[in-house]
Amino acid sequence: MQDYYCFVNLPLPYSYTAMEPYIDVQTMYLHHDKHLQTYIDNLNKALKDAPRLQRISLEELLFYADELPEELRVPVKNNGGGVYNHRFYFSGLSNDAGEPSGALLDAIVQDFGSFESFKDQFKAAALSVFGSGYAWLVAGRGGRLKIITTMNQDTPIPLSVCPILNIDVWEHAYYLKHKNVRADYVDDWFHVVNWKKAAENYAICCGAKK
Ligand code: MN
Repeated sequence: MQDYYCFVNLPLPYSYTAMEPYIDVQTMYLHHDKHLQTYIDNLNKALKDAPRLQRISLEELLFYADELPEELRVPVKNNGGGVYNHRFYFSGLSNDAGEPSGALLDAIVQDFGSFESFKDQFKAAALSVFGSGYAWLVAGRGGRLKIITTMNQDTPIPLSVCPILNIDVWEHAYYLKHKNVRADYVDDWFHVVNWKKAAENYAICCGAKK
């Protein structure tokens, strides 16, 4: 995946129907091909006349967003955040979901009591987002797991935590199927969590990065 300008919207690594019946085909198509595409287009537009920023990775742009030229701060935060958060979200879905295992399951049990208790706490966090945003499972220093929420297209990157899993709770992520009932969407989303990818992310978090 190209992680710097000119950003491209790679195809989903699964079909638009893959998450049926939990996430419907029309939502998957619009979410990836229209919503994410718009963030990508607008991020490219923002960086078009900033050649020095075109060699900087997306994560670095987001980490140092407050040090960018003033007129680029908001466009990079909103659109770069939109690209980062959506890529993370789509890569965190799988139609072969299963449940967490290994080191990640051990950490979930240690930090949340049980997998069921983690799910309850994660759902509560996802429901607590007022308006648009995300809930995240992240690792802090030392690998300790926490659940956090972010507003709009803010990312966890400036918080210096290591993301493992996120759920998009913007209405565009669920309104066609679940209407206004975000809780039903969260319950359905739990059926299509890519725990394998989450375990890989957790391993990266526990490695050299933090
Ligand atoms: Mn979205």
